[in-house]
Order: sequence, then structure tokens, then C-alpha cells
Amino acid sequence: MPALVNYAAEPESVEIREIPVPEIGDNDVLLAVQAVGVCGSDIHQCKGKQSWKVNYPVVLGHEFGGIIAKKGRNVRGFEEGDRVVSETHAVIDLTSPFTRQGLYNLDPNRRGYGAGVDGAMTPFVKVPDRILHHIPNQLAFEIAALTEPCCVAYNAACGNAGIKPGDSVAIIGPGPIGLLSALMAKISGAGDLVVIGTPADAKRLTVATELGATAVLGAQGEDVVAWTKNFRDGYGFDLVIDAAGVSAALKLAIDIVRPAGQISKVGWGPQPLNFSLDPLVQKAVTLQGSFSHNWPIWERVIGLLSSGQLDIRPVLNRVSPLEQWHEAFEDMHSGRIVKAVLKP
Ligand SMILES: [Zn+2]
Repeated sequence: MPALVNYAAEPESVEIREIPVPEIGDNDVLLAVQAVGVCGSDIHQCKGKQSWKVNYPVVLGHEFGGIIAKKGRNVRGFEEGDRVVSETHAVIDLTSPFTRQGLYNLDPNRRGYGAGVDGAMTPFVKVPDRILHHIPNQLAFEIAALTEPCCVAYNAACGNAGIKPGDSVAIIGPGPIGLLSALMAKISGAGDLVVIGTPADAKRLTVATELGATAVLGAQGEDVVAWTKNFRDGYGFDLVIDAAGVSAALKLAIDIVRPAGQISKVGWGPQPLNFSLDPLVQKAVTLQGSFSHNWPIWERVIGLLSSGQLDIRPVLNRVSPLEQWHEAFEDMHSGRIVKAVLKP
């Protein structure tokens, strides 16, 4: 079967290759992939710019849903023909202290689809039953495939940060995770919701407005710190979500968070910071990392997507066959669109 394979660390080492259909074990299902989201991390790996370990060669794709084509003999609760989505935690250590407390996403030995283990940019993928979730018939696979990034955003906004109705929330970085975090903040009752980008993000900031942001900043190179001094009482935001990751974004987050406020950092940035963290101390700000998601978050997000309470349609701008992967990657990389989904 065809598969989109990332075969080496050098930039642009991605191509469609023929691979065998995977053999499943007793606790696995063979999933016929119906839709798979393109993630910024797929693009980072394609460009050779990722800061995580990759097991080359590996099939890309970790945001996916499909129909169970075959099940192992120990699989309970799932049948052939069931519509499901899968978490990304393909391999975990069941005895790790983090797994034992339900935080298997933080198990240092965890291996995820598309980097540690062959992912879903191919017609069939092997999935252990412990990470499957049923989805209702009314939830289209193109939308369901984006459960994973919605779970990342859920954790950044509502898990590792707890938005309360009326909170003022700023999101730095209007990429897919930033925009989905904005949606999560909106449905959590954020009072003011400000999305911050750069002139290169003009298109994505338009989408932020469509999603319900009360203000968008940065498309014209606005001075965000000066703007914040004239916002509400002038002391800054209750919560700042850093969905950009570069050190300048954390610097800005520290500048615009209010005393005793919180910063939720979900964006990655391998470079050193090069600025003082003293304002964090002086303002007694909580700086909270947020990584991945786990079972209860998936169940909640599937509920939100199925009921329509979480409407991500403005973020999904392209659905293409797998063969058009390169155009889809480039559309996202250039910022022309927010998110693409492939149909293998
Ligand atoms: Zn992702």
C-alpha cells in the first residue's frame, strides 16, 4: 500500500513509498484510515527542523480516524466496522509511574505515531485498543481526524490552565494549536480573547476573528505591550497561552500577563531564551508547560465536536487525497491555510 514516509533527517526526506499492510497483535485493530490531519510537526519533520527523536524511516501522520477493518482476538468493546479515532500514544510503558496515574502522555518512554511508530498517512494503521475512542455517525471523519489537535488545545487552555468565565485571555501564535486554543477559551467563557500574531499571520488572524476573538493584533506590526497597557485596567491578561514557542513569544507573554496570572506554554522552541525571568518572580506568575493529552480529554473533546459546541470548520481549509500531500504541506507552511486533512 502507498504510505507517506519520512525516511531520513535531511530536509525534504519525505516521499510516497510502497509498504506492507501491518500485522496486528491480539490487542490491536487494523484501522482503515478515512482521514488524517497534517500537523505542524509533520511539516517540521519534513523540513528536518524537529526537536524530538524520530525513528527513521517512519510513516507520518498522528491525527486520524477510520473504520475498524480487523480486530485482534483480545480486543473488547470494539467491532469490525466501528467508526473510531485514535490517540497518538502508540507505545507506552504500562508500569511507569505516570501511566499508573493516567498520565501516560508524560511517560518518557512513550512513542507516538508518525515519529516513534508508523503513522496514519497510509490506508491502514495498527492501533492498540487502549487508545481507541468511538465516534458517532454524525461526526464526519475530516472533523474527527482533528480530535488530536483539539485535545492539545483543550489541555493547554482547560487542563493545564483553568479558564474561568470572564477571564481575559491572550493567545500568542495563530497556528492550528493557537486557533483551537482560542476556540477552547471561547467556549470556556473567556471575557476578552485576544489573538496575537505577526504580519505573516494576516490570513490566520482573519480566521481568529471568525472564531470569535474580540481583538487580533500583529498583522500590522502593532505594539502589543503598549496595546495591553490600554486594555481593561492596564495590568494585563489573566491567562496567556504561548502557542508560538520562540523565545520572543515567552518574553511577550511575561510582559503582558497580569500579576498572579498564568502562562500556559504549549509551543516548542529549542533555542535558549536570552532574557531575564525576573518579571516572572516579581509578578508571581505561574508558568505551566502543556504537552499532549490523555483519555478523559479525548472523551470530552469528542463530545464537544459531536454536539457542535466546538465548531472547528473555519480552521479546516483543505481536504485532499494523499497524493497531494506536498501541496497540502506547503499550503499550511506558507500560512495560506490553517489546517489540511488528507484522505489516504
Ligand atoms: Zn499534531
